[in-house]
Amino acid sequence: VWFDFNQAVEECVQDLQHTTNKHILVMDFKETGKVYSDKERIGQVMTNLISNAVKYSPHSNRIIISTEREGNMVTVCVEDFGIGIPEDKKDKVFEQFYRVSGSKQHTFPGLGLGLYISNEIIRREGGRMWVNSTEGKGSTFCFSLPVADSKANKPK
Ligand code: ATP
Ligand code: MG
Repeated sequence: VWFDFNQAVEECVQDLQHTTNKHILVMDFKETGKVYSDKERIGQVMTNLISNAVKYSPHSNRIIISTEREGNMVTVCVEDFGIGIPEDKKDKVFEQFYRVSGSKQHTFPGLGLGLYISNEIIRREGGRMWVNSTEGKGSTFCFSLPVADSKANKPK
């Protein structure tokens, strides 16, 4: 379906803001317009990325969710100031059941599936997902989606 991208992202952010008192989810949106995609699944990806940002930033309280549109692509990024990911593990986090083996101070629950599933969803919708991260400083997970594919008619 066609849906307003920023509005859908904002709904996810607001839902997740209710689940955390400590973290402040900051929205930094640029105009995106509507996209033709699977709204539910994109919401699932947003939820995965934001809940990771919350989980893996136990000592900081700010998470920034930004959106933008460039040509026929929309991009959303979720930036945290948490534990970060070692350089040599960055590509592996999208693998099934992969988890960065943690520090001694913290154990974080999880199965190692969230990013694998998210990446698959985004690929199926014709987009891509990537991460920038510095160990001990934080991570930024982003994905881009085409505004519409060939199946799509004009937005309503
Ligand atoms: P779940 O299946 O519940 O999502 P998970 O969070 O461990 O479990 P993924 O979401 O797939 O699994 O993430 C894979 C691994 O990547 C995590 O175990 C963690 O080591 C690392 N990771 C993911 N997001 C972040 C982040 N925002 N900051 C630091 N490390 C992260
Ligand atoms: Mg996860």
